[in-house]
Amino acid sequence: MACMHIRDILERDKTTLSFEFFPPRSDKAAASLADRLGAFESLEPSFVSVTYGAGGSTRQRTHDLVVSLKSSGKLDPVPHLTCVMQKPDELDEILARYAAHEISNILVIRGDAPEDAQGYDPAAEAYPHAVDLVKTIRAFNDAGRHADPRGFGIGVAGFPEGHPETPNRLRQMDHLKAKTDAGADWITTQMFFDNRVFYDWCEQCEIQKIDIPKIAGIMPITSLATMKRMADLAAGTNFPAKLQRRIHRYQDDDHAVEQVGVQWASEQCNDLLDHGVRGIHFYTLNRSDATQRIFEALGASSGLPSIRT
Ligand SMILES: Cc1cc2nc3c(=O)[nH]c(=O)nc-3n(C[C@H](O)[C@H](O)[C@H](O)COP(=O)(O)OP(=O)(O)OC[C@H]3O[C@@H](n4cnc5c(N)ncnc54)[C@H](O)[C@@H]3O)c2cc1C
Repeated sequence: MACMHIRDILERDKTTLSFEFFPPRSDKAAASLADRLGAFESLEPSFVSVTYGAGGSTRQRTHDLVVSLKSSGKLDPVPHLTCVMQKPDELDEILARYAAHEISNILVIRGDAPEDAQGYDPAAEAYPHAVDLVKTIRAFNDAGRHADPRGFGIGVAGFPEGHPETPNRLRQMDHLKAKTDAGADWITTQMFFDNRVFYDWCEQCEIQKIDIPKIAGIMPITSLATMKRMADLAAGTNFPAKLQRRIHRYQDDDHAVEQVGVQWASEQCNDLLDHGVRGIHFYTLNRSDATQRIFEALGASSGLPSIRT
């Protein structure tokens, strides 16, 4: 599969359906993801994205997974790239490497401070905020260093429920607008479990003239433990009482909890489709079964292409 610029993907697919993977941290986890790739491929996602860790060896793993997905030719990989502890020369090397491998799009995020970095000061970084990386990649694009004359398609993160570091929500919108004005092509959102929050945020974007496509982040909850972990990782995300009640009702039955999570996510997706969402990005945690069942519920498995085309 040739990697496609996000603008071409958005033109081709009425609604993009995409997956997020994280790079496996052990040989066992790598084998487990490799086993599931066939199932993911059969769902024919518009693209898949690969997360990027804050510093250390996981960064190389992101690169390796992206290149191996690309060379398999079956999935179109979009690497994530963060600002945290990113040195300009290393960044340039990474961009040049991705360009050489014909990677077409990058999702740019700031990243969170590494847990073990005492006294970490984001302001001392070469790229304190995601907007600084967007500008740098735009400059790389403008220098004609990519085979595609448009360079990399650039994605950024959006937070319908707000980002915890900027309690002033109007100012937060200004920061999102700055990323758009710096040249972002699309926004992928943090996970949310109440679509009304997403719709309201889309309206706020409209008021601010943030008019690039917004791809909704959806995470099927597969266990009580996953929900608790996500509450930590995606700080500020609200888990509606109705969802919590259903999950607690079945908490001793893993299969039933997963069914609740799949049903909730499927209802969210159906409603998003009814509202003409441009894309849905599934936080898969490298597991294919829940996503597969949501696809079935949506009629998005092959044979029913109306959602995408
Ligand atoms: C879709 C998605 C994918 C993600 N993937 C990863 C990943 O692969 N690896 C990882 O480590 N993390 C990842 N994260 C988490 C993300 O890195 C954190 O949530 C981070 O805290 C915010 O990133 P950002 O890109 O929105 O940062 P920014 O846009 O830099 O914003 C961070 C905070 O700074 C504020 N801000 C922005 N600009 C300015 C400014 N000029 N002056 C003052 N304040 C400003 C914003 O309002 C916000 O509160 C992901 C999040 C999402 C939603």
